[in-house]
Amino acid sequence: MELNLKNVSKIYPGAVKALDQLSLTIPTGMYGLLGPNGAGKSTLMRSIATLQEIDQGTMHLGDIDIARDRDALRRVLGYLPQDFGLYPNTNSVTLLSHLAELKGIVAAGERKEVVDELLNRVNLWEVRKKKLGGFSGGMRQRFGIAQALLGDPRLIIVDEPTAGLDPEERGRFLNLLSEIGEHVIVILSTHIVEDVSEVCSRMAIIDHGRVLHEGVPADALESIRGKTWRREIDRSELAQYRKSHNVLSTRLASGRTIIHVFDEDNPGCGFALSEPDLRDVYFTILGNLNRMVK
Ligand code: ADP
Repeated sequence: MELNLKNVSKIYPGAVKALDQLSLTIPTGMYGLLGPNGAGKSTLMRSIATLQEIDQGTMHLGDIDIARDRDALRRVLGYLPQDFGLYPNTNSVTLLSHLAELKGIVAAGERKEVVDELLNRVNLWEVRKKKLGGFSGGMRQRFGIAQALLGDPRLIIVDEPTAGLDPEERGRFLNLLSEIGEHVIVILSTHIVEDVSEVCSRMAIIDHGRVLHEGVPADALESIRGKTWRREIDRSELAQYRKSHNVLSTRLASGRTIIHVFDEDNPGCGFALSEPDLRDVYFTILGNLNRMVK
């Protein structure tokens, strides 16, 4: 099954073009949708999830025309929105069971089986009686995945799911997602490049509602290999380097500032060739766009 988006546009009041003739084909597996804040990711996710309408274009999941047959799409959709509320005084068994009933799993025996299986799968079985108000960020997100998995969805959308998770929780959450992504389409919408590099087999980079890049992360890395350079600088020199070089990113390491620059040739003056990472790809692509827009 594939998700096909063709020439999708959305203009908000005030002439904000959130989606601008966007086309993508998304196959089974973990798909990273990467872009800075304001790029249009949530608008796209909400449109696919039938929570809002697009102005132009078409969206199909297999043979479901999403705009025409919202109910059919909803039956096969699991959605973890950016902010989702939990009832703090309820526990996960009670809430998941209630949500399962709303999804149409009406027989009590079957519902118990489904709920128990999901809570085990997301590793919340041990804390199933704990009040949701006492859950950590990672536990909340894993509960979010459990509810998104109700009804055996074919398409799962998770919108900025790792924001605010500590490294261990984030790793556990991403592992869980990639297990799920073996059989269904999982779209992971994020502005965190590392989320995509760790688990996604394909990705798109979007900004200003347009697709700037689409493909396999490893191919994108290959395309800039030999063109990314690094050196350690003094923080006070950064502004100068930004003027003279195509600076992709700055990182702090043990109190020192490391810059990465893009250059077809060796820029000299102390730069060393660096192994490209997905952040370099991302900032090269966004940098090209900004130069075009200027
Ligand atoms: P992202 O999820 O990538 O941060 P969004 O889809 O939230 O991007 O936003 C894309 C653009 O649309 C931004 O410029 C944002 O300010 C604008 N936008 C989002 N929602 C609305 C809305 N309800 N009304 C007007 N503008 C909006």
